[in-house]
Amino acid sequence: MRAKVVAGNWKMNNDQAATVALIDALKTKPSKAEVSVKIAPATVHLAQAVEALRDSSIEVMAQNMHAAENGAFTGEVSAQMLKSIGVTTTILGHSERRAYFNETDAALSQKVNTALGHDMEVVFCFGEELEDRQSEKHFEVVKQQLQDGLFHIDAAAWDKIILAYEPVWAIGTGETASPAQAQEMHAFIRQTLSDHYGQPVADKVAILYGGSVKPSNAKEIFSKPDVDGGLIGGASLDADDFFAIVHAI
Ligand code: PEP
Repeated sequence: MRAKVVAGNWKMNNDQAATVALIDALKTKPSKAEVSVKIAPATVHLAQAVEALRDSSIEVMAQNMHAAENGAFTGEVSAQMLKSIGVTTTILGHSERRAYFNETDAALSQKVNTALGHDMEVVFCFGEELEDRQSEKHFEVVKQQLQDGLFHIDAAAWDKIILAYEPVWAIGTGETASPAQAQEMHAFIRQTLSDHYGQPVADKVAILYGGSVKPSNAKEIFSKPDVDGGLIGGASLDADDFFAIVHAI
């Protein structure tokens, strides 16, 4: 059976006190069997979050990392630094990184290699923009992102990859892909994986949906057969909402 995952991306929100308060609130929530729950606080709070969640099943992820092992990359964080504080998963390729920090699929493929080289798990984000969907290029764009960012890795490496399909037009906009639109794209992604790596690999990769998932719409989206959970932005900043989403799977 495929992993079920609900992952919260806190982005550049929450100072130290708010981070501690939100983690404390999350720790009071009942876990749900077979759902892997992950949170990505800001980089400066990762070490503290790992400590605070040491006895919890909630896992801490980074929001990003650099492709290089170390060196003159002011302001950046390496895989080895993350591993040294107990962070073994990173988000890569979030649409905000692509849009505001010019991250291309070619650059992301290097980050993927570095993460895998450090035995880290990757939540790889991708998805079309509004104009791609309006011009009916969304399948083409998504396939290209997968090919350029990930299809150089070998089949075994997919054990370390979680995909997060996030249509850019649905992120932080309140606009959600309909459950049918999400399922259609997730099935296409799985077929694309199967065409390249074979059905056994395609069947085991978790594909999360991201884009304005809320307690009110999570159940219907998660009911779709190729949707294996969600990457949650805004609603992950509220412990009640986030765990309502966890329990909607
Ligand atoms: C995200 O940033 O990955 C995201 C899905 O955000 P939101 O849930 O706020 O749309």
